[in-house]
Amino acid sequence: WLDLEGKVAIVTGGASGIGLNISKELIKNGAKVVVADLNVEEGKQSDGSYFVKCNVTSKESVDQTVAKTVEIFGSVDILVNNAGVNLPRLLVDDKGEKPEYELSEKDFDFMVAVNQKGPYLFAQASAKEMLKQNKGVIINISSEAGQEGSAGQSCYSATKGAIIAFTRAWAKELGKHNIRVVAVAPGIIETTGLRTDAYNEALAYTRGVTVDGLATDYSKSIPLGREGKLTEIGDLVSYLASDRASYVTGTTLNISGGKSRG
Ligand code: NAD
Repeated sequence: WLDLEGKVAIVTGGASGIGLNISKELIKNGAKVVVADLNVEEGKQSDGSYFVKCNVTSKESVDQTVAKTVEIFGSVDILVNNAGVNLPRLLVDDKGEKPEYELSEKDFDFMVAVNQKGPYLFAQASAKEMLKQNKGVIINISSEAGQEGSAGQSCYSATKGAIIAFTRAWAKELGKHNIRVVAVAPGIIETTGLRTDAYNEALAYTRGVTVDGLATDYSKSIPLGREGKLTEIGDLVSYLASDRASYVTGTTLNISGGKSRG
């Protein structure tokens, strides 16, 4: 149904979590996938994917990844800007006891570089390839936090909001070249990658619950009563990447089990 046969996709941050699943779903639907991630060794895999070691914050690294994709597979038809980092911290440390709850300047710059500059660099390099064939799709992985704002995650929320603004602007710039640009805003998804002890501790603190109580707190806030499955994001991205979504551009699809409308 979602025929991606012959299409070439780049998935940033595709070595784990949501990105890994997006890569698998795209491959299942017939696409060839270049996984661009910091945490992989270069090389072809048997499942239709090729790994490129890439740092999305470096223009040189991004340009090399796009060039390598064209060299190996001949084009870039689909870009999924998925690599992201989230270091939940407060605007001000309101207790004063644990200064680590306040976001440092270094962490602010880090989040902006990965979540905001990275997608820009990748869209810029990929769109140049898409322009040559007058066709393409750019899918930006935002977050419910980027639509609603999330306590303790104001910098992360802002970077994810920026992705939504990029999506609207690029869709207007690139529509005349038959290039669609969409964003996906997941709610709480069953990943472990971002959930370090420090992440959980900071989130529990901002939500006024214990770390052990976080899962219950999440579920209570979701009308469907559970976290989202990785495959549910992969399915939506595959649909958006396919010609079935040929009139969908410039918009952000919220996928949060009803937690927010977006
Ligand atoms: P994850 O940590 O499991 O995966 C992120 C991947 O990005 C990792 O493989 C990591 O190596 C890679 N990465 C990080 N920095 C990079 C860089 N500079 N260059 C290249 N690769 C880099 O995270 P996830 O939970 O799968 O999140 C994926 C995306 O989904 C992120 O953009 C995140 O903000 C978004 N998101 C996640 C959730 C959730 O609940 N997990 C909710 C909403 C949005």
